[in-house]
Amino acid sequence: MLIQQPQKKYDIVIVGGGMVGASFACAIANAVNSKKLSILVVEAISPESNLSDQLSFDARSTALSFGSSRIFDRIGLWEQLKDVVAAISEIHVSDKGRFGAVHLSHDEYNVDALGYVIENKSLGVVLNSTMKNSSQIQLLCPASISNISPQADGMTLHIDSDSSSNTVQASLVVLADGGKSPICGQLGIQRSVQQYEQYALIANVAFEKPHCNVAFERFTDTGPLAILPLNSIDQENRGSLVWTLTEQQSIEFKAMNQEELLEKLQERFGNRLGKFQQIGEKFIYPLSLSLAKEQVRPGLVLLGNVAHTLHPVAGQGLNLALRDMEVLVSILQQAFLQNKPLGQMSVLQQYLDQQETDQAQTANFTHYITQLFSSDSAGKAWFRKFGLFAVDLVPTIRRNFAERAMGLSGK
Ligand SMILES: Cc1cc2nc3c(=O)[nH]c(=O)nc-3n(C[C@H](O)[C@H](O)[C@H](O)COP(=O)(O)OP(=O)(O)OC[C@H]3O[C@@H](n4cnc5c(N)ncnc54)[C@H](O)[C@@H]3O)c2cc1C
Repeated sequence: MLIQQPQKKYDIVIVGGGMVGASFACAIANAVNSKKLSILVVEAISPESNLSDQLSFDARSTALSFGSSRIFDRIGLWEQLKDVVAAISEIHVSDKGRFGAVHLSHDEYNVDALGYVIENKSLGVVLNSTMKNSSQIQLLCPASISNISPQADGMTLHIDSDSSSNTVQASLVVLADGGKSPICGQLGIQRSVQQYEQYALIANVAFEKPHCNVAFERFTDTGPLAILPLNSIDQENRGSLVWTLTEQQSIEFKAMNQEELLEKLQERFGNRLGKFQQIGEKFIYPLSLSLAKEQVRPGLVLLGNVAHTLHPVAGQGLNLALRDMEVLVSILQQAFLQNKPLGQMSVLQQYLDQQETDQAQTANFTHYITQLFSSDSAGKAWFRKFGLFAVDLVPTIRRNFAERAMGLSGK
């Protein structure tokens, strides 16, 4: 429910009601369906505000792995989401100008889809309405956490909104305030950051031929370029473009008029979708790998981009965060049933021990793919050609690749 004034004390305060914080709120409320568990979500930006102000529910689209669709199903949200997603039936990975491609199809893996594409704003609508309709979740929005300080039995948080300032106690703070988190800095949590010197240009595109639910990932001289299938509107064939560029290119391409940019896109992508007809509003995101050096402290756990921000090339960021979320929820559920303090270090450490390998493997896989496919050097191009062949021809490599794409690795 939406509230104006918070209580003095909560079991869990979630800082940030973006894709990860809001998903976590819905998941924990679903798992511990008890009035005895009090949950507050504090989100700085109102969902009704201008789309360009939104950090999470903005103009992007997200490729949800098959595994993530199951997670949303288990927390009771898939019924609402399934109507607004576009299925990915096939994934086609290729290297511009070189022989060798990977082609994965849902038929091979006996699943309805390899994954799904959802427009972030549609995910926002479902998550926000679920939080507002829940009697267990209190949502304070727009309001912002300005300070967090540790106490003997949890954390104290200072919350500022237009009308008031409040101090709240929490047994556990779930910090889900995104990759820029000033709170992390304030708490002295360091990050290891690697700038890729790359930028993602994001836009919706319309094209001549139906996408037939194929997700395309194409490696070009300017960097990886993905087109994810979107549901058609007014019979227009639509896709979500994610185009990795250098800083200079991102400036040039953003300034180009529609015709020039469509021509560049056509030249880089080829004719698989026929002629590109339109490109929507363009957004640019700087890309980096940024990992928090600490994810848990007594009374505190980091979730989502604040814990690990990955390059979007392999579409793993939210999918990894949802796997983290599911494990954390299950451990907190057990702690709640055993009357253990939710912010107890042993409880939070159990979560980290369980997710550490998945996090490291996913970050490494994404970083490796980024390095491999972002260079036109002869060595890497050869390796890439071999890699694409190997993935397509060797059954175990192919299965590993597909399982990672479907978010089923290690399950
Ligand atoms: C171009 C691009 C494409 C991507 N594509 C994919 C994909 O296909 N598949 C995939 O799995 N992942 C993808 N990702 C990654 C995915 O977007 C992120 O993993 C996800 O957005 C992380 O969500 P978050 O909630 O942790 O952080 P954010 O989205 O940054 O949300 C943080 C929230 O916290 C709020 N907030 C911040 N500070 C405060 C405060 N002090 N008080 C209160 N509220 C606060 C903000 O308003 C915001 O709503 C992509 C990323 C990019 C950049």
